[in-house]
Amino acid sequence: MTAPAKTPGVPRILVCFGTRPEAIKMFPVVHALRARGGMDVRVAVTAQHRELLDQVLEIGEIVPDIDLNLMTPGQTLDALSAAMLTKFGPVLDEWQPDRVVVHGDTLTTMMVTLSSYFRQIPVAHVEAGLRSGNIYSPWPEEINRRVTGVVADLNFAPTEGAAEALRRENVAEDTIFVTGNTVIDALFATNDKLAARPDLAAGLDDVAARFAGRRIVALTAHRRENFGQGMANIAAAVARIAKREDVAVIFPVHPNPNVRPVMEAALGNLGNVALIEPLDYPHFVRLMGMAEVLLTDSGGVQEEAPSRGKPVLVMRDTTERPEGIEAGTARLVATDEERIVAETMRLLDDRGAYDAMAQAHNPYGDGKASVRIADAIARRHGVA
Ligand code: UDP
Repeated sequence: MTAPAKTPGVPRILVCFGTRPEAIKMFPVVHALRARGGMDVRVAVTAQHRELLDQVLEIGEIVPDIDLNLMTPGQTLDALSAAMLTKFGPVLDEWQPDRVVVHGDTLTTMMVTLSSYFRQIPVAHVEAGLRSGNIYSPWPEEINRRVTGVVADLNFAPTEGAAEALRRENVAEDTIFVTGNTVIDALFATNDKLAARPDLAAGLDDVAARFAGRRIVALTAHRRENFGQGMANIAAAVARIAKREDVAVIFPVHPNPNVRPVMEAALGNLGNVALIEPLDYPHFVRLMGMAEVLLTDSGGVQEEAPSRGKPVLVMRDTTERPEGIEAGTARLVATDEERIVAETMRLLDDRGAYDAMAQAHNPYGDGKASVRIADAIARRHGVA
């Protein structure tokens, strides 16, 4: 689509993202900005992930104005970064936004931020202030988000802890807003949708019937720093957990070539492990509901699980989301085979330990983060 002329007095806001988790966390922001009114809200996607992004666009009812379709097989960080800069710059030149809104910590986040900075277009950062303190875990996300934080003049921190992290880096106080995490907005909106339309997650009916009566362990794994030995350890741990007669593992497998072949080789022939395609968001929300225990290296799942009262074992060395750990609903187990197995068994066998973790708790938001973000952006641009 070519850029339509701008309307004088109506700021053009360009919301940019490229991956599944960004889309999940940004669709409520796009809707809130449009509902707020007085702004020309546009969406650009880099499509850093293609299929996984498209699933969310559909369910989130977002039609991008600009789609750069940048994903290529086996893309390197260098090539993808370069393509983003050279392809996204001209989009900014053509569309002339008054503000760019980015999310989180992907390569899209950092490159869109740099491109905007080169043109002196202000950047708003949603999910600002997450820090692990280790630039190699998560990698390269820790640097993606730090660079973005240096440029942004609106920093939407999901928690007070994230706001504190920004203050420690001398980010100006009047740029920091504690909003809650928009993932909770997305989760609530999707739960409401599912209550009215359970058919939106009917794709899990078969696996639910197959594993009826068993206790479900649900799993996701995709982090770059876990590629190689980490993934092999996770697969070995799952194979041991799946030896239990009373358990079934449901594992939507990330399509990344560093993940899928490893999991298929190790787990493909086990009777009570279902390796399934990545789920669209309503199906994944249903899976979280079915599961007794969640094992993940994902960021978003760590935020969603506590609000569903599900214990989550985090297969990472560090986390930038300490609130779930502090609240007792999440526990770090790294990619250590023994720890993954031992902690999962403990949750399955020790009712007291399970109940202590399985408390519905919502440290990440109240479902109104997007409205707060839209309001702050509107006010910054003088929209009544
Ligand atoms: N998710 C999904 N389908 C799946 C696995 C995960 O919709 O098969 C959702 C999940 O609910 C969460 C988000 O994707 O909101 C997390 O994405 P991912 O794990 O890819 O990235 P991260 O959160 O680690 O950045």
